[in-house]
Amino acid sequence: MSPRSTAYHTATAELLREHGLRVTWPRVSVLNVLAGRGHLDANSVARLVRGNDVHIATQTVYDALKTLTAAGLLRRTGSPGSALRYERRVGDNHHHLICRQCERVLDVDCIIGSAPCLTLADDHGFDIDEAAVTFWGVCPDCKNTAGQDTSVNRGRTASKSMKEEK
Ligand SMILES: [Zn+2]
Ligand SMILES: [Zn+2]
Repeated sequence: MSPRSTAYHTATAELLREHGLRVTWPRVSVLNVLAGRGHLDANSVARLVRGNDVHIATQTVYDALKTLTAAGLLRRTGSPGSALRYERRVGDNHHHLICRQCERVLDVDCIIGSAPCLTLADDHGFDIDEAAVTFWGVCPDCKNTAGQDTSVNRGRTASKSMKEEK
């Protein structure tokens, strides 16, 4: 059976209905490829859907991601300088630990437990419901590589390797 015809009778389809969304095969496919996969950007989601031998336009993936995020089925995370990423883990106010070098994203539990876990001295009249905390650092793999290969040290090395290439 094609992914399109089976999409309507799955737990994922049920999830969409529970959230008041129409069941469409792009939405089902997007949710399915994100299940258990952590944090993916739109292009990676599109590639994985296509990997199941299904043609899908990139814009269709963007639309599905937007709808699913608005409905609370996906969480969107942004980090400066890289594409927005989407994940299925929602509603638990977890935070992210990102490697500056390989951009791997790990989930870390919220220390306080519920949003917003930080309080502003002055909220400027906003009703604040979330404080997104991102921990930046260097992951163990990149630290190990750094020991053998100095090219990991981005800023400094960019100028260094340019000189070497002359
Ligand atoms: Zn890394
Ligand atoms: Zn996460």
